[in-house]
Amino acid sequence: DTLLKVENLKKTYESSTGIVEAIGDISFTMRQGELVCIVGPSGCGKTTLLKCIAGLLRPTAGVIELDGQPVTEPPENMALVFQEYGRSLYPWLTVRGNVELPLRHRKLSRAERDRLIDDALHAVGLDHAAKSYPWQLSGGMQQRVAIARAVAYQPEVLIMDEPFAAVDAQTRADLEDLVRTLHRERGMSILFVTHDIDESVYLGERVVVLSKSPTWVQEDLAIDLPDE
Ligand code: ADP
Ligand code: ADP
Repeated sequence: DTLLKVENLKKTYESSTGIVEAIGDISFTMRQGELVCIVGPSGCGKTTLLKCIAGLLRPTAGVIELDGQPVTEPPENMALVFQEYGRSLYPWLTVRGNVELPLRHRKLSRAERDRLIDDALHAVGLDHAAKSYPWQLSGGMQQRVAIARAVAYQPEVLIMDEPFAAVDAQTRADLEDLVRTLHRERGMSILFVTHDIDESVYLGERVVVLSKSPTWVQEDLAIDLPDE
């Protein structure tokens, strides 16, 4: 039940100053229902890795497979949550409208769509804010809207790129617990990228560590989580 396979992935950019090795060599696999963290300092290639997995960027070498299929274009069964929550929400749509947006392309009955939206808003604790507009909400609440949208979409894998880097410490702790709950109670497969080692160890069942000094390396940590 391998969900995502990344094997000997390499990516170099050509820039005016020469060739930049953004990713030296990354390999890892993720099983269905796992929460895997990718951690490393700024510049180690995290964004590049995610862009390759999301089918937005072509690797220089290596293999990326989702459900055994090579990723050559943005997969439909993938949802993304970014650090810049403000930019991913539409200001002219209500919270409910934002969560509904990706479901519009699905052949769902009105009732089924409403059920998915209500369920997702409830899961992130935003039942009461359905009719609000994103700009009326705090940053943490806006990020909950982005997460609700991903929950309603029911993706095979949820990719989160430094999602809580821009919120205050208490909000961040609350949102981290939300991610853990979504993973535990709904079995969501989550690939969580952060530069914060504490966050990665708190959240991840497995942590893939990227580093590029003195040379580009990858290490894997297995985290033994206490049973809850
Ligand atoms: P992060 O917040 O993940 O550290 P960066 O600030 O490194 O992101 O990069 C932001 C965007 O700029 C990314 O899309 C990245 O691909 C692009 N980028 C980063 N470094 C360079 C560079 N040296 N030349 C061109 N584009 C770059
Ligand atoms: P991270 O997300 O971990 O900060 P990035 O993937 O943004 O890392 O960048 C990895 C390396 O690749 C950095 O040295 C960055 O400057 C470089 N880079 C990223 N995007 C580009 C680009 N489009 N052109 C040239 N260099 C880039």
